Amino acid sequence: MDVSSLKILVVDDEAFVLKLTVRILAKLGLDDVVTASNGLVALDEIDNAALPFDVIICDLNMPEMDGIAFMRHAADKDVSAGMILLSGEDERMLETAKDLAAAHNLNILGVIPKPLKPDALSNLLNTFQPATAAKQSNWHQEGISETELINGMDSDQLLLVYQPKVSIATGEVTGVETLARWMHPERGLLGPGAFIPLAEQTGHIDALTCAIYKKAMQQAGDWLAQGITMKVSVNISVNSFTLPDFTDFLIETAQNEGMDLANVVLEVTETQVMDNALGILETLMRLRMKRFALSIDDFGTGNASMEQLKRIPFSELKIDRAFVYGAAQNAGARAILESSVTLAKSLKMDIVAEGAENREDWDLLASLGVHTVQGFYCAKPMKNEDLLAFLDTWTGPH
Ligand code: C2E
Ligand code: MG
Ligand code: MG
Repeated sequence: MDVSSLKILVVDDEAFVLKLTVRILAKLGLDDVVTASNGLVALDEIDNAALPFDVIICDLNMPEMDGIAFMRHAADKDVSAGMILLSGEDERMLETAKDLAAAHNLNILGVIPKPLKPDALSNLLNTFQPATAAKQSNWHQEGISETELINGMDSDQLLLVYQPKVSIATGEVTGVETLARWMHPERGLLGPGAFIPLAEQTGHIDALTCAIYKKAMQQAGDWLAQGITMKVSVNISVNSFTLPDFTDFLIETAQNEGMDLANVVLEVTETQVMDNALGILETLMRLRMKRFALSIDDFGTGNASMEQLKRIPFSELKIDRAFVYGAAQNAGARAILESSVTLAKSLKMDIVAEGAENREDWDLLASLGVHTVQGFYCAKPMKNEDLLAFLDTWTGPH
């Protein structure tokens, strides 16, 4: 394609780097270029642009909002621009940032060490493909309206699928994570990325969280009736922890189905926790006192410190797949994986690794002392009928 027609956003806190990048782009024939001095300004530019940016060139280390946080916010906005990361950090940091961007489903073109060389930039720009297939698939739908969401919730189009969690020590399935899907009558089966953020933005997330939790507990009750006892994990948007009476709702719904509260795992993502730690601390403590398991999800993508983790009573640490899949070959990912495991061990937490896709991932996790694996290597998320068949034949990973 003709690179010179691309619309570019450059984000860097150093005016000198911005100028230099603009000049290099001009030499490559690109003049539709907007600059932003930090992540917040960049998000504003994205919101206010008449046409979406094709490529975003972003510095990693910036005050106010760094490149990592910027990528997370860009992912929340379903930005489909090609991302180029530019940084003076060492190569390991750049590789990890790249994995993180990929884990956020961003369209990452590559990383370039500073100082920027015209050839490196030109090569990456040439790899740009407009709106990737992934972004156009029904996993990331655009333009779902609030009314559509309300209708979907009212007419019970919500479906839960279950992904097995496997003990490394015994090879047995010890639990499942419930993952939400929406059986949309026109759009087909939608993944959570298509409607959870929408529900969060439009104030419907609490109703959705409660509907999902109730369904999950009813399913768990059915399993108990069939003699199947497992831990059941449910993702909870941090918002919902501030609902009045939420603790009582969680307890009563689980106990109505005969669930032991210690087998109910409430997952909340690290980034959401860190943005709201104080506001939800009281609720989390009360839930722990009732023996619910609390899991900090997507660990490694936020910036929780040891001190903060010590104060919040999580019982499980769930390492994000950006630091699990392929970690044996990626020194940066492996370093974060290892330090997460060390941290979780010192706080006596259950350690779950998410996103293991092959034997090599599993072996590395086993050697580090991770307790539980959830990933395609063992099983994909599946409907209840398939899960029952799976449990019947499962004899451990091979
Ligand atoms: P999560 O809680 O971290 O869930 C794990 C995600 O990783 C799932 O994606 C799962 O299908 C995927 N996954 C598991 N193993 C592998 C693997 O080996 N390789 C790869 N490439 N992917 C793997 P899914 O179902 O698309 O869910 C995405 C996210 O949406 C979840 O991430 C969770 O944060 C959110 N979500 C899902 N269901 C709910 C829900 O009921 N409520 C809320 N608030 N959020 C939900
Ligand atoms: Mg989860
Ligand atoms: Mg996760």
